[in-house]
Amino acid sequence: MIRLFIAEITPPFAEGLVFPLNPDQARYLAAVMRLGEGDEISVFNGRDGEWRGRLQTVTKKHVHVELVAQTRAQPVADPAPKLLIALVKRARLETIIEKATELGAGEIQLLITRRTNADHTNVGRLQLIAQEAAEQTERLDVPQVIAPVKLEAYLKTAAETLIYGDEESTHETGERTIPPMLEALHRVGEGAVSILIGPEGGFDEVERQTLGTLPNTMAVNLGPRILRADTAAISALTLYQAAKGDWR
Ligand code: SAM
Repeated sequence: MIRLFIAEITPPFAEGLVFPLNPDQARYLAAVMRLGEGDEISVFNGRDGEWRGRLQTVTKKHVHVELVAQTRAQPVADPAPKLLIALVKRARLETIIEKATELGAGEIQLLITRRTNADHTNVGRLQLIAQEAAEQTERLDVPQVIAPVKLEAYLKTAAETLIYGDEESTHETGERTIPPMLEALHRVGEGAVSILIGPEGGFDEVERQTLGTLPNTMAVNLGPRILRADTAAISALTLYQAAKGDWR
C-alpha cells in the first residue's frame, strides 16, 4: 500500500478526519498511480501514528483523504542518534541522507569544516530524500535535515556526547575485546549522542585538536581501512543501533 508523509499541519489524526493532499502528492496518486475514489493509502505525520486513508475526491489537481482507522500507534521513540555530517559531494551526501533515515537517525545536521568542498547545499532536496526514505522504510517520523553550520560554531553549543570518526585515532594496543565505537557507546550510557563524520579530506589538525580537548567528545576508530564518508556514517549508525538503539 502506498505510504505518504503528511507534512502539512492538520488537526490531530482521528477517524473521519478529511484533509487535502498537497499538489505533488495529489498528482502522484491521481496521474501517476491512477488511484480513484475509494482507493486506500497509508498516511503518517510523525506524531499520530499510521492511519489507513480512503481517497474521497480525486481529480488531477485535488485529492482529499478521509481517515478510516489507525494501523500503528506512534512509538515512544528510542533516543535516536543525531548525525552530524560534513558536506561531501552531492551524490554521496544524498546516499548518506537516505541511509541515515533508514538506519533511524534523528536529526541530520549538515556541517561545514575546513576541508569541505562546499559551504552550501540544497537542503530542501535533501529533506525530500529523507521524506521519501522514511515513507519507503516504514518509519513513523522523518528526520529533519538542518542547514549547514560551521563545525566550530556547532561545537560551541553542543551539549550532547559527540562521538566522531577519526581514522587517525589510535587505541592502546593489546587484546581488543570490543570495537572502540561500542566501547564509547557503553561509556555514554543513556545520554544523548551525536555521531560526527568528516569530509572527503578528513578533519584537519586544528579540528582534531579542538575535538580532542572538548569534554563531551570521543574519537573512535572504525577499523584499519579508510572509509568513504558515506560508509563511515552507515557503519557508525549501524553500530549505534545494534548497541544502544532500536535493533535490540
Ligand atoms: N582523511 C582521510 C583521507 O583524506 O582520505 C579520510 C577521510 S574519510 C573519506 C571521511 C570521514 O570518514 C573521516 O573524517 C572520518 O570521520 C570517517 N572515517 C573514515 N574512515 C574511518 C576510520 N577507519 N575510522 C574512523 N573514522 C573514519
